[in-house]
Amino acid sequence: MANVRLEDIKRRFNNVTAIEDITFEIPDGEFWVLVGPSGCGKSTILRTIAGLETATSGKLFIGDRLVNNIPARQRDVAMVFQNYALYPHMTVAQNIAFGLQMRKVDSKIIQDRVVNVARSLSLENLLDRKPKQLSGGQQQRVALGRAIAREPQVFLLDEPLSNLDAQLRDDTRAELKQLHQELGITTIYVTHDQVEAMTLADKIVVLNRGRIQQIGAPQSIYARPANQMVATFLGSPPMNILPASYQNHSFDVSGQLFPIPTVVEERLKLRQGQGLNLGIRPEHLKINTNSEFNTENSALLQVEVKVVEPLGRETLIRAGLPGSMTVLNIQTSGDVRPRPGDRLSLELDLNELFVFD
Ligand code: ADP
Repeated sequence: MANVRLEDIKRRFNNVTAIEDITFEIPDGEFWVLVGPSGCGKSTILRTIAGLETATSGKLFIGDRLVNNIPARQRDVAMVFQNYALYPHMTVAQNIAFGLQMRKVDSKIIQDRVVNVARSLSLENLLDRKPKQLSGGQQQRVALGRAIAREPQVFLLDEPLSNLDAQLRDDTRAELKQLHQELGITTIYVTHDQVEAMTLADKIVVLNRGRIQQIGAPQSIYARPANQMVATFLGSPPMNILPASYQNHSFDVSGQLFPIPTVVEERLKLRQGQGLNLGIRPEHLKINTNSEFNTENSALLQVEVKVVEPLGRETLIRAGLPGSMTVLNIQTSGDVRPRPGDRLSLELDLNELFVFD
């Protein structure tokens, strides 16, 4: 096992900079997730760590070893791809054993490892099958098994669940987490799926346009996003963004004015006349039915219901601000069922408000 350290890594393809200023250190045994929209540079970082890409500049360490010029197969990392990349003509057992055979590991040791890995991934009864006789989930477990059998210092996983259907993806995600708890191997996991990032990670690295936006534990990034991109990327449904202006101790949101208490003004560091975006998470909007509310820390916003999505335990409501294109996501309990066209009074918790430039 090993820590992984990136120092100011940059990668250019011809004239295009895919990633830059990439600096972080993953302590030995932790599970880190690189997350961000398609094209933000996640795979390039992972492939650079694997040795499948070369950094244009910067330093990469695995353990204490500078590995920039060390070929992929000598880096002691194992990578699992989205498309499994199994050998179709080999059985499950042969696929799991292959990397060890290439390294000329003793055949008795190989046999023991295959049995152990198969047991930990519930593949014991499938060892004689060929990949095409397996489901997608089983194939992905074999791909994981092949990586685990090598007992690498670092696991690199590139969107390993994205070809699985929803239920299987959830199950496999939980299995992966359990596997990491058992093996404790330093793991770097790439995904565009914020739910995977939130549920799996010890630490999340949020990327956008080739640059790190924020690094932190899932809950701390969720509670204190560094900017609007991070705020709207993590969380489902996403944080609501309301264009607003600030004047005379009040916000103006599409012509609706609400006063801001001094403590909130100070917390948000507001400047007079400033145009800004307000951010509020769907769970911090409450439908107000009796017009009694805590004026000290709340404000009321009038909206018109557009779409109602009952999800069982909760109802998701999409509502528009009159006279504007802004649509808000509101998360309420399952028994609340307004109709499209209804006017609602929304109570905004000012303590949960974010402000972005
Ligand atoms: P992600 O994994 O987040 O979707 P990538 O790391 O694959 O993003 O890509 C980051 C950027 O680098 C993109 O703009 C992509 O087009 C570019 N890129 C990646 N690989 C190559 C390549 N081999 N040649 C040219 N451009 C590339």
